[in-house]
Amino acid sequence: MQDRDADTNGRAAQVGIDARIGKPGAACFCGAVVLALNGPPEEMGYCHCESCRAYSGAPFGAYMLWKSEDVTITTGTELVGSFNRTGMSDRHFCRRCGGHLMTRHPDLGLTDVGAGAVHGIAFAPAVHLNYSEAVLRVHDGVPKLRDFPGEVGGSGERVAE
Ligand SMILES: [Zn+2]
Ligand SMILES: [Zn+2]
Repeated sequence: MQDRDADTNGRAAQVGIDARIGKPGAACFCGAVVLALNGPPEEMGYCHCESCRAYSGAPFGAYMLWKSEDVTITTGTELVGSFNRTGMSDRHFCRRCGGHLMTRHPDLGLTDVGAGAVHGIAFAPAVHLNYSEAVLRVHDGVPKLRDFPGEVGGSGERVAE
C-alpha cells in the first residue's frame, strides 16, 4: 500500500504529536509542511466549480474556511509553492510531495484549507457551493447553492439536490 510510505515519512508522527497536545492543524501529504489553524472554521463545505474539480482531480472539492490571519505555516515554509490561475485564488501546495495545503482569497480575507489535510477538527459540511456546475449529484440533504452565498457576492440561490 502506497500510504505506508507516508505513514513512515513523518506525517503520522506529526499528526500524532499535534493530536497529543490537542492542537488542530493541517499537513501536506508528506508531512513536511504543517499549518496551524486558529479557532474553529468559519464554514465547512464542498465546492463543485470547474477550478476545484480540476485542481483537486476529484468530482468536487471539500474545504474548511478560516479568516486568512488564522491560518499560518509553522513548518516547511521553504517548500511551499503557489499558483494563481484566475487572479482570485492563490493556491498553495508542497513542492516536495505535491500535496495541496490551502487557497488564499486575498479579496475576501479568507483562506480555505483542504478538508482532507486537516486533523483535529471534525468535518461537518454545511453547504455545497457552485452546485449548478456539479458533475456528480450528492444526495446528503446538505443545502445546495447555485453559486456562492450573497455575503461574498454570489446569488445565494438554493437549487435542487
Ligand atoms: Zn509535502
Ligand atoms: Zn470551487
